[in-house]
Amino acid sequence: MSKVFIGLDIGGTKLIAAAADEHGHIIKRERAATPLPLEKGLALLDEMIAAVSEGAPIAGIGAAAGGPLNWETGVISPLHQPEWRNIALKARMEAKYGCRFSVDVDTNVAALAEHHHAADKPSKLLYLTISTGMGGGLVVNGEIYRGMNGEHPEVGHQSVPYRVADHRTVACSCGSNGCLEALVSGNGIRRLYRKPPEELTASEWEEVAWNFGQGLRNLAVIYLPDVIVLGGGVAFGARESLLLPATEIMRDHLKIVPHPRVMTSELGEHNVLSGAILLAQRIAD
Ligand SMILES: [Zn+2]
Repeated sequence: MSKVFIGLDIGGTKLIAAAADEHGHIIKRERAATPLPLEKGLALLDEMIAAVSEGAPIAGIGAAAGGPLNWETGVISPLHQPEWRNIALKARMEAKYGCRFSVDVDTNVAALAEHHHAADKPSKLLYLTISTGMGGGLVVNGEIYRGMNGEHPEVGHQSVPYRVADHRTVACSCGSNGCLEALVSGNGIRRLYRKPPEELTASEWEEVAWNFGQGLRNLAVIYLPDVIVLGGGVAFGARESLLLPATEIMRDHLKIVPHPRVMTSELGEHNVLSGAILLAQRIAD
């Protein structure tokens, strides 16, 4: 029986597990709602791994989870899963499955997948996700860029000059003011406009796009990526009503550096799972 590579997407609302062959092609996939209790969540992951691997030997397991986490020790404390605190996931999984296990922040994992599937293999690819929250991952020469002590840079918590109708202070859930996440994420939009993103009017989208364009401008002028790839539910839902005006705002304000390409992810919502399988393949080599 040939070995399989397992990819896990551990999200606050859903768990996805998949088994892939040595070419990364998915053989079987399972999806379930994330149970609140930790023990139930871990037991469900085991069931899903058993279901997708169908008894085949496991070569490696790659996983994506919400931050914060330590990618070296594999200890995770995903912010949106309150019962998952200081979980030594790598130690648990390696002991249980007898293979190598690697976990990284979901946006990093998605960024790896976007880079892997990009036809022109850009030397610097910045992936941004706009969903419930907002974050990103930067891939430099095929490797994830990490900050001090291996920490994950939080691009959603940069401040930007923003436009909102009544000029009030925009408070962010991180405790600071004026963060990009508080202006463009699903939660931020709900707080600011008192409705979900899919109900925003054209002029409200214009405002969101202006604010997002300021964030793109900051990221472009500091990181100078070749390409910026957008993903996440809010970005996929908004498509051109966000992408085009925000890119234009970025270009209008970007004077002394080359302009990166800005595009919507072609992998779509599968980029996280696809990246988790890549992680499994990387560690199994
Ligand atoms: Zn913030």
